Amino acid sequence: MSTQAAEFTPGGQNHMNSTPDRTAWLKGGGALCLNPPTPPRGAPWRLVLLGAPGVGKGSQADLLCERLGACHLSTGDVFRAARRSPTGERSPAMQAAFECMHRGELVPDGTVVSLVAERKACLHCAGGFVLDGFPRTVAQAEALEIMLEDQGVGLDAVFDYQLPLEEIVERLAGRRICPVCKAIYHLTGHPPRAEGICDLCGGPLVQRDDDRLEAVYTRMEAYTATIEPLLAFYKQRRQLVVVPAHGTPQEVYERAWARAAVLRPGLAPAITPWPGPGGKP
Ligand code: AMP
Repeated sequence: MSTQAAEFTPGGQNHMNSTPDRTAWLKGGGALCLNPPTPPRGAPWRLVLLGAPGVGKGSQADLLCERLGACHLSTGDVFRAARRSPTGERSPAMQAAFECMHRGELVPDGTVVSLVAERKACLHCAGGFVLDGFPRTVAQAEALEIMLEDQGVGLDAVFDYQLPLEEIVERLAGRRICPVCKAIYHLTGHPPRAEGICDLCGGPLVQRDDDRLEAVYTRMEAYTATIEPLLAFYKQRRQLVVVPAHGTPQEVYERAWARAAVLRPGLAPAITPWPGPGGKP
């Protein structure tokens, strides 16, 4: 997770702001953010990211949030945050959701939709949002559409990141994360300097529970079973932007906006080159 968020302005300048804390999203139940995102000067951006686990949605979400000043709303992050809460505070639905996660299965639609509904104020946040990991099924997409209507807002675009299956499996099975500072490594593609130790904070690197090979295959099956109708749903609404996800995060980012501009001319102000860490051109 990046350490800075930036407000996008059409001239390509970014006004740095500390990262939004996402308390309202992560905790739900009417909790308020201590550090909400800084609203951009133009209209806030509201995007959905689709793509198989491991395709790089998280990195794209970080880049988009930095450049657009939006908040990263990931349902996987909500479940992981809830899993850290004391066992006694878990509802039976949440306990069942954790078991689904452990096996790499999708959590039932009803549980996920009520989790998002409880946080629907985040959908009209003045900073905008980048939804990552939701919706994953047509039922969730329909529920989201109703929630957005209810909040009086709409989606600007739905980016679908695509990579060949073998590459995704290789990426996920070799991924290691630092539970302390959230840095992400790969055993061969981006190894840490010292084996098993985070370069940034010295924390012990771990494999995410659902990145184990057996869970990866289950997740991929769940993904392929549900993605086609979801793509058709957004294609029909002319919101779908298909993005080949090979290359560096910056290349993928620029490709996404170039393709979005084909779908809807004028939709791609963020295509100006990323000025780099710290917002310095
Ligand atoms: P992610 O970090 O998005 O890969 O999510 C991690 C896990 O959380 C998934 O493998 C699912 O078990 C669960 N999950 C997250 N979002 C959803 C969703 N929208 N629908 C069903 N299950 C979800």
